Amino acid sequence: MSERHDVVVVGSVNADLVIGVERRPAPGETVLGSDLATYPGGKGANQAVAAARLGGRVGILGRIGDDGHGALLREALADAGVDLAHLLVTDGPSGVALITVDTGGDNSIIVSPGANARLVPGDVERARPMLGGAAVVSFQLEIPIGTVQAAARTAAGAGARVVLNLSPPAPVPDDVLALCDPLVVNEHEAAFLLGHQGEPALLARELLGLGPRSVLITLGADGALVADPSGVTAVPSPKVEAVDTTGAGDAFTAALCLRLACGDGLADAARYAARVGAAAVRKPGAQSSYPGAGEELPA
Ligand code: ATP
Repeated sequence: MSERHDVVVVGSVNADLVIGVERRPAPGETVLGSDLATYPGGKGANQAVAAARLGGRVGILGRIGDDGHGALLREALADAGVDLAHLLVTDGPSGVALITVDTGGDNSIIVSPGANARLVPGDVERARPMLGGAAVVSFQLEIPIGTVQAAARTAAGAGARVVLNLSPPAPVPDDVLALCDPLVVNEHEAAFLLGHQGEPALLARELLGLGPRSVLITLGADGALVADPSGVTAVPSPKVEAVDTTGAGDAFTAALCLRLACGDGLADAARYAARVGAAAVRKPGAQSSYPGAGEELPA
């Protein structure tokens, strides 16, 4: 594929291994659970699949292992129509998330980064034409921060818009924060960066003070807040019956990136993203819940 991409995602590709349990085991304890279910996941792959399903021209820079999980993960991305020219294969295991979910809906998750940890700045260099040709390049933090930094600099230097989802929360170099337009966080991630909780509009203004060009705080069923130097705008979320919120943040960010790539302003892009996020919570799973381009979105 030599066309320019609307969105290029630089991020993780994981197999989600899920077992349902009556209660999660205490240290030293063994419990019996349900059959194992294996789903394609990883924040990077989720965002790439979500944006491609919505009709975007999407590429991914990521690494999978040469194991059976890698084959499943590649297939899920290919089925969605994601350009896989820079989906690289490492000797050894793919990234895996071991997830136990109890009957109350609470979960425990262990992530083994596997091949994701081997996505290095040298991979960024080889993907330079793809990064430079994208309208928007999207990042999360399940890959090495040095790779995020190299790719964000490369993308911004070539004129692409950089969107960073601070998930899972981790420190980010100031020069990367300064490229974010927007920095996307939920309330926990905002509190991590600022060192305190608070009223979302105040948090948004404080986050802007850390240097990003704009900020977006997602607020679950309450929608989102958009902040840039001109002010703070609240974006409501449609009211839906939430079945499973897994991966809603990834669906939201993917839709946001796609609309920014198409030329929308940040608040308009966030309004659309909130509808896509709300659509994703109506169905179980992450990628399995993402709407297609022709699907009616909740309003
Ligand atoms: P996760 O890490 O679980 O993927 P997140 O914490 O990053 O999610 P949220 O703020 O929970 O992100 O959700 C992202 C967006 O999805 C929200 O801004 C909202 O638009 C939509 N959304 C999430 N939960 C609901 C809900 N219960 N009802 C309607 N919309 C929702």
